[in-house]
Amino acid sequence: MKKISILFGITILCALFLLGGCHANSQNSATKKTETSFFALNTYVTITAYGEHSENAVAAARQLISECEDAWSVTDTGSELYAINHSGGVERRISGQTAELIAFALEMADKTNGALEPTIYPVLCEWGFTTGQYRVPSAETLDLLLKNVGYGQVCLDGNTILIPEKVQLDLGAVAKGYIGDLVAIKLKEYAIDSAIINLGGNIQLIGGKTDDTDWNIGIRSPFEQFNFGTIKLYDKAIITSGGYERNFTGGDGKVYHHIIDPNSGYPAESGLASVSIISGDGKLCDALSTACYVMGAEKSIEYWRENGGFDMVLVTDNKEVLITETINERFSLSEEASEWNVNIIKKQP
Ligand code: AMP
Ligand code: MG
Repeated sequence: MKKISILFGITILCALFLLGGCHANSQNSATKKTETSFFALNTYVTITAYGEHSENAVAAARQLISECEDAWSVTDTGSELYAINHSGGVERRISGQTAELIAFALEMADKTNGALEPTIYPVLCEWGFTTGQYRVPSAETLDLLLKNVGYGQVCLDGNTILIPEKVQLDLGAVAKGYIGDLVAIKLKEYAIDSAIINLGGNIQLIGGKTDDTDWNIGIRSPFEQFNFGTIKLYDKAIITSGGYERNFTGGDGKVYHHIIDPNSGYPAESGLASVSIISGDGKLCDALSTACYVMGAEKSIEYWRENGGFDMVLVTDNKEVLITETINERFSLSEEASEWNVNIIKKQP
């Protein structure tokens, strides 16, 4: 999905995988490893699966990712999303899976009071994040464009969608998480019970390592090229958002990044440098990683206390790590980040 989500730089590095090459590597049939790496969804994808049928499983997963990319690329003129965005205000029938993804994005937009804003695309284009032709738009231009932004303008009824002519959807903040979920389902159809799906640093795990113990997943520092910590996870997704992933320096010397505050049209400045969300539901992780980045620590913590169902590791601009109490014991700070402060987010304030 050429522009469906743009991640430059791997946000989360897996500490344990990549011991083998990018090809099938036969061991005994139950732990036969197949690993493949390729460029898709505008990022580097690596799938590592263990099991007797891992070779066919990984091939099927790759095919699935390609189909998702074909459907949800916001820039590819042949994609289903492109057709929706250029439907000229006319009602359109869409596929079940696309409807499911859009319905989820709209639901999360609502739950996060529009911090997740799936119709932010026209603003994103103006900043040049879709083309790489970066510029700082004028406040007047952003105000005008923001008139066409608002998830409430999207009418989705089953498999029928209707959006006003100037409103355009961008599923970049949720699609990779959803695709991770779909890939996990696909691999399980091939009896895979141990796998890492790495979509540009967004990690979806199946089960544990081949000895059924936790995976150790490194979380990248938003400031330097090291992992500030590792976390032990089993059968979960961990998805990170951060302004460091894609940005440019304007003529004024200021750094402008790709996660937009829908209230202002400017890159979000919430005091957070990165947000990692952990849960069994990849699409939820993806939606919340973006939304929490926009909302900032205080509102994110409030959201977690009210809704639960996920864990989070927040990194503030001044290198403070805030981690939910339910996952804290699984986390350890790396040596490089030994000076960083870690604070636990408690369910009861
Ligand atoms: P993520 O890496 O999941 O945080 O997604 C970031 C991508 O989502 C950006 O590159 C844009 O395509 C899109 N995006 C930017 N700001 C928002 C927002 N406030 N709500 C929804 N999508 C956004
Ligand atoms: Mg996201």
